Amino acid sequence: MNLGNFRIDGDMIPEPPKEKKKIGRKLLALILVIWGVNHLITSNLFESEIPTIEMDKIEHWNLAKPINLKITDNYAIKSFKVIIDNGDGEVVNYKSGDFEKPDVQNIDINISLPRSTRFKNNYTTIHVEVTDFSNWNFFAGNQAELTDTVIVDTSRPNISIINSSYGIRRGGSATVVFKVDDLGNNSTLDEVYIETSSGRKFLPQPLVSTDSKYFVSLVAWPINDITFKGKVVAKDKAGNESSSDINLYLKEKSYKVSNMTLKDSFLNGKIRSLASNHEKSEFTDSITEYFKIVNEDIRAENEKLLFEITTQIDKSAVVNDFDIKPFSPLRGSSSVASFGDHRKYFYDNEFISEAYHMGLDLASVKMAPIVSTNKGKIVYNEDNGVYGKTPIVDHGLGLYTIYSHCSATRVQVGDMIDNGHIIANTGKTGLALGDHLHFGIYVQGIPVRPEEWMDKDWIKTNVTDIIAGAKKIVERG
Ligand SMILES: [Zn+2]
Repeated sequence: MNLGNFRIDGDMIPEPPKEKKKIGRKLLALILVIWGVNHLITSNLFESEIPTIEMDKIEHWNLAKPINLKITDNYAIKSFKVIIDNGDGEVVNYKSGDFEKPDVQNIDINISLPRSTRFKNNYTTIHVEVTDFSNWNFFAGNQAELTDTVIVDTSRPNISIINSSYGIRRGGSATVVFKVDDLGNNSTLDEVYIETSSGRKFLPQPLVSTDSKYFVSLVAWPINDITFKGKVVAKDKAGNESSSDINLYLKEKSYKVSNMTLKDSFLNGKIRSLASNHEKSEFTDSITEYFKIVNEDIRAENEKLLFEITTQIDKSAVVNDFDIKPFSPLRGSSSVASFGDHRKYFYDNEFISEAYHMGLDLASVKMAPIVSTNKGKIVYNEDNGVYGKTPIVDHGLGLYTIYSHCSATRVQVGDMIDNGHIIANTGKTGLALGDHLHFGIYVQGIPVRPEEWMDKDWIKTNVTDIIAGAKKIVERG
């Protein structure tokens, strides 16, 4: 209609004004520029996110154990540099790379050096730099860097055995004193322990002072381990490890095996009542099954508890003097069963179950007073299943004494007791037939022969003289 109107008017189709045309073009160009810039900014070519550098945070480095380094960019890495300073101001270009195409997003590097590399001041600085492929920052790309300083420790701890017992009996104890030196001061030391061939660990305590390089530990040869071989293991914070064998003369000791016949009165009395506390007893009515529950399941739980209590050791407590005297818990008593007896139980001539007797049974009169002939701390004072009422005393250096089947106890957990303190009275709580004391000695969780710790000469030769002798060596330097 409009066109028609123009024609009717006889006029030419009017040109749009020139001014208007120019404004239109400019607007179009501006829109294009805005769209283009926006496109560039949102595209990878102008992304402004900096690359990330992740490196293992370690304080001590033995050069061989790799330090993991991970470089990532959300678009692509253009170049990277890993520089290691030798502590002397001299830099080593450890690893670097330049990429022509934007196709690398991740780089993983395990930084390690030959152990022979020398670092002047026992430390090094690791410096990482990365640039990505972005045109951001006036075409320079996004950059990231990270600098970390680590202590270099390539030397293994030095271990020397200073003094030890001459030998050890199967089921018995021994003392070991040793020196550990790492980089002159032991602040770089991470872990020190004694490990046996059967995988048991004994933790030492410092001799003389907390910053001492000298350590002392009691060790035990568990009665059921065929042989005993121990070594001192030391690890530093950089991961360097060394070990040194402990040479103890091994003395075999044979233990009694006894066959015991289970009586109906015993099974229907003590056993039935002890078993009834255990959930397994719901599933059976057999008295021999009850015996197995008591002798195996309940005993295992009770012994696990004894292990947990008697493995506690204060690694930082200085030993200095370990003035232990012979234990003599029940005056005027006689031994009614020995440590280490291997008991096999039969019913109607049929083998039912077995157990090892991990203590010494002593008996005198009923409800006789039980005395501790060494100072210590009461760490447990409860009813422990087959062991009955059982106070436990911590004497230091991982040495514990237990007193089982008590009728009454006269101590509380936390009590510090002295030589001569009456702890409890004998009785027949737990799995005991008559009134007696089951006396057990534990070295860092391992039951050992009480007979050794009741013998003045054995203690002198194997413990107190060993520590005193080592202290003389320490004093001489
Ligand atoms: Zn006993």
